[in-house]
Amino acid sequence: MADSSLVIGFDLGGTKMHAAAVDTHGHVIHSERCKTLAADGADAVIDRMIGLCTRILHELGPRAADVRALCVGVPGGVDDERGIVDTAPNLGWSQVPLVERLSGALNLRVFLDNDVRVAVVGEHAYGVGKGTRTMVGIFVGTGIGGGIIVGHHTHHGGRGVAGEIGHMTLMPHGPRCSCGKRGCVEALASKTAMLREVNKLIKQGWTSRVPKLMRKHGSEVLTSSVIERALDGDDEVMVKVMRDAQYYLGLLAGNLVNALDPEVIVIGGGIAERLGERFVGRIRDHAYKHFLVQRDREKVRIVPTELKDLGAPLGAAFLARERLQGRLDSAPGPRHGTASWPGPSA
Ligand SMILES: [Zn+2]
Repeated sequence: MADSSLVIGFDLGGTKMHAAAVDTHGHVIHSERCKTLAADGADAVIDRMIGLCTRILHELGPRAADVRALCVGVPGGVDDERGIVDTAPNLGWSQVPLVERLSGALNLRVFLDNDVRVAVVGEHAYGVGKGTRTMVGIFVGTGIGGGIIVGHHTHHGGRGVAGEIGHMTLMPHGPRCSCGKRGCVEALASKTAMLREVNKLIKQGWTSRVPKLMRKHGSEVLTSSVIERALDGDDEVMVKVMRDAQYYLGLLAGNLVNALDPEVIVIGGGIAERLGERFVGRIRDHAYKHFLVQRDREKVRIVPTELKDLGAPLGAAFLARERLQGRLDSAPGPRHGTASWPGPSA
C-alpha cells in the first residue's frame, strides 16, 4: 500500500516563519507563512507557530490525520535530545523548551535542528544536490552559515558542531567577527560585513545611494533588495563591496574544495535567492583559481540555491521522516548552529 503519511517542515526565521506539509515524495501539499515578530517574546512567537501549524492541519482536512511529525529549523543552537533551543540570538531566545510546547499543543512528534543545516539537507534531498555523496552549502545572510554532507548524510562531527564554515579564518588580523575572532569569512562577506565596508568607503569620500535606499525601505540592515537596487544602478560602492565579498566567498569555496572535493557547492541565503548566477558567477571564478587540482574542475558545480526559501521547510520535513525512522542522521546529541545566523531566507 502507498505511504500516505505527511510531515510538517518548519522554518523559524528571525523575520518570518514558513511551514509546509510534505508527502513522502517531497511534494508540498500545503504551506503557510507569517511574520515572526520576535520582539513580542518567545511565548507569543510559539503561539504564532502553533497557529501556523493549526492552519495547515485545518487546510489538509481529513488528511490532517496523516501528519506524523513536525521538524523545526531554528536560527541558532538546539539540543534535539532535550527538545530545547539553547540559544537563538536573533530571536532573543535562551533555553526555550520548544518541543514540549509544540508537541503539547499539536499532539505531534516534534524534532529540532539548525535552520541552515535543514536548508542544506533540503537542497541535498530535493534540490541541486540530489543524489550527490559529498556536498557543501554556504548560506550568506546577516551571518554566514553552512552545512556539510558526506556519504549522503549531514556531517555532524565528534561534538556535533561541524559545518561552521562561516567562521573559517581568511584574514587573521582582519575585521572583528560576531564570534569574537578576527577575519572570519562572516566578517568579510556577510551582509553585516558588506554594510560595514559600504559605510567605510562613504566615510572615505566615495558616493553611494545605499544609505538612501535603506532609508527608503525603512531598514537599518542591508537587505538583499537594497543590494540588488544599488547594483542595478551601478552604485560604485556597492559594486566594489560586492566584488570583494565574492572574492572572499570564492576563497572559502576553493578551500572547501581542496579539503572535501565535493560534487556540488550550493550558495544560498537572500542574496543568492535574489541575484542567482549574478552573485555566484564571480564566486565560482575565484574558487576555480584556488583549486589545487585543476583537472576536471568544472565537475565541481558551484551553483545558486534551487529551492530558495522552500529549502528549509523541505529539509526539515526530510529530517522529520529520517528521525521517525531512526536513521543515521537522527543520532542524538546537541546540534549547535551558527549563533549569528538569522535564517537562510533572510
Ligand atoms: Zn567568526
